[in-house]
Order: sequence, then C-alpha cells, then structure tokens
Amino acid sequence: MSILSLIYAPAKVLEKKAVEVKKIDNDIKNLVNNMFDTMYENNGVGLAAPQVNESLQILVMDCSNKDISLDRKVLINPRIIKQSNDYKEYEEGCLSFPDHYFTVSRPESLNVSFIDIDGNNKEFFFNGFEAVCVQHEIDHLSGTLFTSYLSRLKRQIIIKKMQKFKKNINKSI
Ligand SMILES: [Zn+2]
Repeated sequence: MSILSLIYAPAKVLEKKAVEVKKIDNDIKNLVNNMFDTMYENNGVGLAAPQVNESLQILVMDCSNKDISLDRKVLINPRIIKQSNDYKEYEEGCLSFPDHYFTVSRPESLNVSFIDIDGNNKEFFFNGFEAVCVQHEIDHLSGTLFTSYLSRLKRQIIIKKMQKFKKNINKSI
C-alpha cells in the first residue's frame, strides 16, 4: 500500500490533457492500486491520475458508503458518449482544492465508454451522485478543473487562496 502525494492547484499537470493509456501493464495496475489507497486515505470519492502527478487517462472512484461496502471503479481512457438534457446542481469538492466546495451544474445522467483494468471495453450508465463524480473526474483528464465553472473573479480569488495554501505547506515541511 502506497499513499501518493496529491497535487494541489494551481499546477501545470492539472491543466493539461492527460495521455491515453496504450497498454495496461503492471506499472498501470500498481498506479491504480496506489490511487485507490490515496483516495481512501484522503476521504475522497474519486481521483484522477493527474492529481497524483501522472498525466494519464485513468480515474478511480468509489461513491459507496465505505463503512458498509466498497464499490471500486476504474475507468481507463473514458469517453462520454451520451448525456441527459436535464442538468442538476451539486456541491462538489476536489482533493486538489482542500476545503473548497462549489456548486456545479452538470448533466444528470450519462453513458461513458472506457477500458477496465483487465483491458476490456465497457460502457456504463451513471446517474445520481456517481454521475457527478465521474464527470468531475473525466474533466480532470482534459485539464478542466471544477473552478472553470465559476466566474473569472471567483476563480481568481480561489487561485490566490490556493497559492497561499501551497506556500504554507512548503513552509511547514
Ligand atoms: Zn477533483
């Protein structure tokens, strides 16, 4: 079990398009396991590879009540293939923005195609909280952060706060 270091915004790796995974080898499998460990350790429900400094199209998520059971999902090279016309607002958090929560409006449900950890092509339908989570994480893979849904002014304020936060972490190390 390895807990990876989280990348906090603002950071270049969070703002660029992640690279498609060509082959699911042991390095990828280890990365996925470490991403789950890192997500659970930080009480997250989803994590994208760029958030642990790997610019690869991989996301992990678990929207279950973890006290009862786990529901580990791994999506490699995910593509949104259909989205509902109905939108829903939800207050989202992000492990790259500790203690910041913003209301984002997204399609209520969607279909996503992806490759699973065994290399199989899959397609899933997501709705409810899982739809919010998977869209937030797919955004990460194209370098889109949830702050991009805010006004420019609000985004600038958040970036200033995050710069301060990162400075303070560096000082305490
Ligand atoms: Zn996030």
